[in-house]
Amino acid sequence: MDHQPYIPGLSPADPGPLSRFTPPLEEGVVSAWLSQHAAAGSWLLDPFGFSPRMTLEAARAGYRVLVTVNNPITRFLLEMSANPPSEADFKAALSELETVKKGDERLGAHLQTLYATTCEKCEKEVRAQSFLWRRDEQAPYARIYTCPHCEDSGERPVTEQDIERAKRIASTDGLHRSRAFERVVSLKDEDRIYAEEAIEHYLPRPLYFLTTVINRLDSLNLTPERQRALSAMILVACDAGNTLWGHPSERPRPKQLTIPGQFREHNLWMMLERGLSLWTETGSSVVVEAWPKRLPEDGGICIYEGRLKDLAREVKKEIPIAAVIGSVPRPNQAFWTLSALWAGWLWGREAVEPYKIALRRRRYDWSWNATALHAAFGHLFDLLPPGTPFLGLVPESEPAFLTSALTAAVAAGFDLKSLALRTQNDPVQINWVRGEHQSRDNNVMNVDNVRNAIYSHLAERGEPASYLHVHAAGLIALAESHTIKQRDQEFDEALRATQSVIQTALADDERFVHYSTGENIDTGMWGIRDDNSFAGRLSEVHRHYESLADRVEVAIVTFLQKKPDSIYLEIEEDLYPHFPGLFTPSKAMIYAVLDSYAERNGAAWKLRAEDVASARRNELNTINAMIGVVGTRLNFSTRTEGKNLLWEENGQIQYALYVLASALIGRALIETPYPSEQTIIVIPGGRAALIAYKAQRDPALAARLKNYRMVKYRLLRTLFEVPVLTRETFEEQISSDPLEKSTSQMIMF
Ligand SMILES: [Zn+2]
Repeated sequence: MDHQPYIPGLSPADPGPLSRFTPPLEEGVVSAWLSQHAAAGSWLLDPFGFSPRMTLEAARAGYRVLVTVNNPITRFLLEMSANPPSEADFKAALSELETVKKGDERLGAHLQTLYATTCEKCEKEVRAQSFLWRRDEQAPYARIYTCPHCEDSGERPVTEQDIERAKRIASTDGLHRSRAFERVVSLKDEDRIYAEEAIEHYLPRPLYFLTTVINRLDSLNLTPERQRALSAMILVACDAGNTLWGHPSERPRPKQLTIPGQFREHNLWMMLERGLSLWTETGSSVVVEAWPKRLPEDGGICIYEGRLKDLAREVKKEIPIAAVIGSVPRPNQAFWTLSALWAGWLWGREAVEPYKIALRRRRYDWSWNATALHAAFGHLFDLLPPGTPFLGLVPESEPAFLTSALTAAVAAGFDLKSLALRTQNDPVQINWVRGEHQSRDNNVMNVDNVRNAIYSHLAERGEPASYLHVHAAGLIALAESHTIKQRDQEFDEALRATQSVIQTALADDERFVHYSTGENIDTGMWGIRDDNSFAGRLSEVHRHYESLADRVEVAIVTFLQKKPDSIYLEIEEDLYPHFPGLFTPSKAMIYAVLDSYAERNGAAWKLRAEDVASARRNELNTINAMIGVVGTRLNFSTRTEGKNLLWEENGQIQYALYVLASALIGRALIETPYPSEQTIIVIPGGRAALIAYKAQRDPALAARLKNYRMVKYRLLRTLFEVPVLTRETFEEQISSDPLEKSTSQMIMF
C-alpha cells in the first residue's frame, strides 16, 4: 500500500446551518487532494451528496462536480450555500414576515409574545431564550433569559404564568398538529402514522409557531429570492424547534429520534434571526445546474436529483469522470426522518414523495449501511474507468462504520490504496481506486494475518494505540488480502466475521496488553507486552522503534530549527508525510510539543531562545559540570559512562544521573540501564508538562516512569548554590520536585 499521508485542513470558522446533521469535515482537504489527483476543470462525481460544503469546496477549486442528492433538505442546503440570496433579501423577507398582520397585531409581535416571561429580579416582562423541559411533563420546569432592563441572566425556575402559557398553547394543539402532518402526507396515506410519530418530536408551542410561519410563507407573495431566503430561515427554526436538544449539552449530534430526559425548547423567533446570520455568512457564488444541463469549464455543481443507479447509465457514455469524492454516509434516522417532514412543511407533499421512504424506515444498522454502500459502489464500478481515484472521508468514525465502508468498497471492486487515521474525533481519509475486477478470489479470513498486522502496527508505533487504530490495522490487512468478505456472504454475516476475527486476534495472543477499565475488547488502548523490561531494560521492539510521541517531538523541533516562523498548518504539512496512515499525530500532541519548545508570534511559531540547539548544548554542558561539582560536595567521585554521569563511592555506583534537554523520555529509559531507584533523570523545567502529557496518553510509559525520579535543572542549580549540602538534604530535595506539579495546566488529547 502506498501511504497517502493525512491531509491537514482547517475547522470551519462558522458551523453553518443544520451543522449538527452535516458531516463535520475540515476545510481545504478535498481541494488539496484534488490538486494531486485531477486536473482543474475536469469532471468529478460525488455519489453520496452528503456534505454540501465538500461539494462546494471542490467546485470553488475549479472542478465540475456532478453530485447525486436524493434528500431534498441536503439538496436545498447545497443550492443555498452555492448560490445564496443577498443579505438584503434575507432581511427584507424577515421584515415582511414580521410586519404582516395577525388579527390586530403584527405577526412578529404575536410570535414573540409566545416566549414572554417575567424577570425574576426586576419583574419586568422579558423574552425567554429557551424553556427547559423534562420528558413526558406537561409544562417546562425552567427558563433561560437575559433581562435587558436589569441584566439578570441565566437559568431560573418557571413561574405560574409560564406554566399557564404553555398549557394554553397546548389546548389548541390538535388542530395545528393535523395541519402539520397534512402538509407531509394525505389523510388516507398509509404512511400517515409515521408522519404523526415524527411530529411528536415537536412540542405544541414550536409546532404552533412553525405552522403559523409556514402558512405565511405561501401567502406573503414574496419574490422568488425572498421566498428562498425565508424558507432557509424557517428551516433553521424547524430544526431548532424539535425536542432533540438535550440539556445540558453543548454540541449534540443526534442520530436517533429519541427525546432526551431533559431538553431545551428554543425561542424560535430568535432562531429565525439566527438563521439570517448563519445563511448570510456563506462565501462567493458557484454555478449550479440541474442534470442533464452542462457546466462551464471553470467549475460548478451539477445536481442529479435521482438515484445513482439511474445516473450511471447516462453518465458512462457522456461524461469522463476524473475522480470521485465523497463523505461516506452513515445512518442517521433522526435527520432522514426529519428531512422528509421538513420537505413537506416547506414545499408540500410532492416534495416528500420521492423521499417518503425515509419516514417509514425506522431501523438502520451497520449491515443495512454496508448493503446500501455496496450498491452505490457497485454502480460506481460500472460507470468509472479502471484506475479512477476516489477520496472517501469518514467522519465520526467508529470501528463498525469503518468495517462497513471498507467491506462495501472492496466487495464492489475498489482497491484500498491508503487509509489515514488521526484520532477518533477526526474524519478518516481513505484512498480507493476502481479496480480491474468486481469479483475476487474467494479467499478465507486468516486470523494470523490479522494478528501479525496488528502486532506490526503496535511494534512500529512503539506505544499503545486506541482500539480504533488496532481495528483499522486489522481491517487494512483483510482488505488487502481480499478476505474481508466471502463472495456469497450476506453483509451482516461478513461484518460479524470481521469483528470476530479482529477480536480473536487480540484476545488469544499473550503478546498484547489491554489498558482499559472495562471488559470489552473494543474499549481503551492496546499495546505490546514488555516482558523483558525491568529497571529500564526494554524489549527488542522498543529498541527498534522509539515511541511515536518521541519521534513526533524530534520531527517538529527539527522542522522549526530549519524553518522558524512557520504557521501551524505548515508544521502539519511537514509532519504528516513522516507519519503516514495510522501514525498520523493528533493536534493535541503537536500542540504539547509546540507549547514546550516554541512561542507564538501572531500565527507563526518559533523555538524559544533557550531551545535553539546551540543554547541547549551550552546549558547541557553547564548542567553536566554542576553535577560533577555537586557530586564532589557529597563526597562522590563522578564518572561518565555512555550518556550517564555516575556518582560512585569505593568503586560502587550510588547514583546514575541522566541529563535530558528534550522530553525524549522513552530514549532516556533505554539509555540508562541502572536500577531505577539509583537513577535520576534531569530535565529542563519546560519539558515537565510534555513528559507528563506523554505519560498520560501512554499507560505503558506511565507504568515505567513510576519507578524513576526526575528533577528539573532549576533544582540542580539551587543545590549547587546551597552553602551546606548533605546527602540527606540532597535526598529530601530531589524527592520533593515532582513532575506532577506542572500537570494541572496540561491539555489532554
Ligand atoms: Zn430584570
